[in-house]
Amino acid sequence: MIVDRQGRRFRNLRISLTAACNYACTYCVPDGKRLVAAQDELSAEAMVRGVAYLIEAAGIERLRITGGEPLVSPKLDMLLRGVSQLGLADISLTTNGQLLVRKLPLLLESGIRRLNVSLDTLDADAFRTIARGGDLATVLAGMEEARAAGVSIKVNMVPLRGQNLDQVLPLLDYCLERGFELRFIELMRMGHLARPGNSFVQQFVGMPELLAMIGERHAFAQADAPLDATALRYQIPGLGFFGVIANESVPFCRTCSRLRLSSTGWLHGCLSSSNRHYVGDLLDKPRHEALPALQGLLVKALGDKQEIAFSGGVTVMKIIGG
Ligand code: SAM
Repeated sequence: MIVDRQGRRFRNLRISLTAACNYACTYCVPDGKRLVAAQDELSAEAMVRGVAYLIEAAGIERLRITGGEPLVSPKLDMLLRGVSQLGLADISLTTNGQLLVRKLPLLLESGIRRLNVSLDTLDADAFRTIARGGDLATVLAGMEEARAAGVSIKVNMVPLRGQNLDQVLPLLDYCLERGFELRFIELMRMGHLARPGNSFVQQFVGMPELLAMIGERHAFAQADAPLDATALRYQIPGLGFFGVIANESVPFCRTCSRLRLSSTGWLHGCLSSSNRHYVGDLLDKPRHEALPALQGLLVKALGDKQEIAFSGGVTVMKIIGG
């Protein structure tokens, strides 16, 4: 097993199935850009082999499929079929939910029982402004169908000053009423938000402010979470749970166990590092040739992790898989 000086190792793999997305959220995508698939994206077969090799070489236990938007990809079906045979402890998926109604049968058939749905507001106009696309009612319908089918749902919300702070409490109540766990994700300095003249400082809302807002409505107490969890979890007695992924306020780099594989075959050991390691060519090789080379690259990827805190990076989340 590859372990660093701080005792960290890779346990959780995220694969970006495609860089293509049917949204262009303002904090993820710079003005005027649309998200299309990269020309040199890996095939589903190569990705499945990649996951199998990484289970062996890095000790990966849990997989999250993300993007871009994974539900727009024609490779989803084959990927799910392949990775569900690999004996992983958990497979989940992060989606904007726009195609959830249509893709739910496939997800259920493939054994997916946990979804993270990104939803920044319940206001249809603000939704269109932030996502630059999509339809709120369609997303909500998809979440209801998934819930009715027994899928456990976490909702990701990025609080943005001037855009959706009025939605913190309505979204929390909406989630508590339905048994969804709301995760507030502090805005991260990534992509255009890490470049000079960006609007990060004006938009950022930190955990103390969020907790103060919630505290005015609900009493809550910190709840248990796994040691390498990125979210701090809170329980509102009798109503449910919510979490905060506080990259800036309470950095979690010391216990980070994440590894990312991009849709074009690059390994990323840290969101805050612009280092990346190409493995696309190894995925066509037989196991005995691929694994030793992969191990060398995994040592480098683990070495890319920040020691203490996320410091920002120009890499774009949709490229490496949020
Ligand atoms: N399309 C899928 C979705 O919307 O969930 C998966 C990819 S998206 C990049 C994954 C997550 O990254 C979303 O919850 C999104 O809100 C989050 N994200 C993207 N850019 C971010 C940023 N700069 N700071 C915080 N979260 C960000």
